[in-house]
Amino acid sequence: MVNPRVEDSRVSLIRLFDERTSSIEGIIKLTIGEPDFNTPKSVKNAAIDAINENYSHYAKMGGMPELKMAAAHYINEKYNLHYDDPLNQVIITVGAKEALSITFQTLLQAGDRVLIPVPTFPAYATLCKLQGAIPISLNTSKSGLKLTAANLQKHLETVSGAKVLVLNYPNNPTGLTYTRQELIELAEVARNHDLYIVSDEIYSELTFNGHHTSIAEFYPEKTILINGLSKSHAMTGWRIGFLYAPKALTKLLIRVHHNNVTGPATLIQKASITAVTEAKDAAASMRHEYEVRKNIVRKGLLELGFAVPDPDSGFYLFVKIPKSLFSGSSLDFCVDLAKNARVAAIPGKAFGEAYDDYFRISCATSRANLIEALSRIEAYVRQREKFEHGFQN
Ligand code: PLP
Repeated sequence: MVNPRVEDSRVSLIRLFDERTSSIEGIIKLTIGEPDFNTPKSVKNAAIDAINENYSHYAKMGGMPELKMAAAHYINEKYNLHYDDPLNQVIITVGAKEALSITFQTLLQAGDRVLIPVPTFPAYATLCKLQGAIPISLNTSKSGLKLTAANLQKHLETVSGAKVLVLNYPNNPTGLTYTRQELIELAEVARNHDLYIVSDEIYSELTFNGHHTSIAEFYPEKTILINGLSKSHAMTGWRIGFLYAPKALTKLLIRVHHNNVTGPATLIQKASITAVTEAKDAAASMRHEYEVRKNIVRKGLLELGFAVPDPDSGFYLFVKIPKSLFSGSSLDFCVDLAKNARVAAIPGKAFGEAYDDYFRISCATSRANLIEALSRIEAYVRQREKFEHGFQN
């Protein structure tokens, strides 16, 4: 018999839904969180050079030292952080996902409780369960889809033995982020309860006003900060993540990382030095375009009667389905939308059971596609209204 925790786990509804709707002819896919831009040229050239210069051997444990130094400098400079001993505080991982995976493997024992504000990226709960830990969803629908310090405090009074708080901001699927003050307050509650914070900041560079704050600034001693190049540099397929942690913990995380994967491809690590130096601001033009697209789509959806929180960042819109269009589940709604409007969006349920009357749109596609998708959604809504109206008369 295989490990029952694996038997019980699932791949995410995001991927499943994306794959299942791909076969619908002419579908516009607003599903995957994958930048539609190309990797910066300087990074591509650096990878070609790395091949020609024979960067084809194992890198040092935990990552290439020059990349660790550059990745620390990059984050310190951008977000006012102090990873001053990069060789002992940084790990170069296979995407942010591997950073998450080794963090949970290192921190969690069976039965440990992990607080996860929802809606959020579904991998956190799955990775916890694989360790036998218990993910506890913190519903944020009454506080603007964000965790407040007061709510965190309240939950900590009712959940005994919470060990870890997972934060993801800017958030997938809402695009919302935390202000400096909100992070200071959350850090204070976490410190009072001696929580570890796993802070997934993979979308940090896509913050529209350009100013991201990391909770590691206020609580470095127990924060595991996760970032990477997937979203900031349109490098999802290159698989480079950065994990920043206190020294003693980094030593343990490296044991798990090394035994699992040894490390990302050496030539990709070499090219990634260019990403965080010469191309460190590659996200600026992308985030501008994402903001324009988000404004177009949000305006169109608001006009059709959908409620859409205004994102602070990135390419997602988390959209509430109006009562008039909701027939019981976000999956039903999204299947119907895919079949009848030929627009694929992700059911809200993928991001938390409490969000079954939402769906997520990814604006990581051209403006033309988004405008066409909006016009299909409009036709769909009008059709549904006509249909419902027919029943009322
Ligand atoms: N964290 C969040 C919140 C994400 O949305 C994603 C990808 O969509 C990841 C992590 C995974 O990032 P990577 O591709 O670097 O593993």
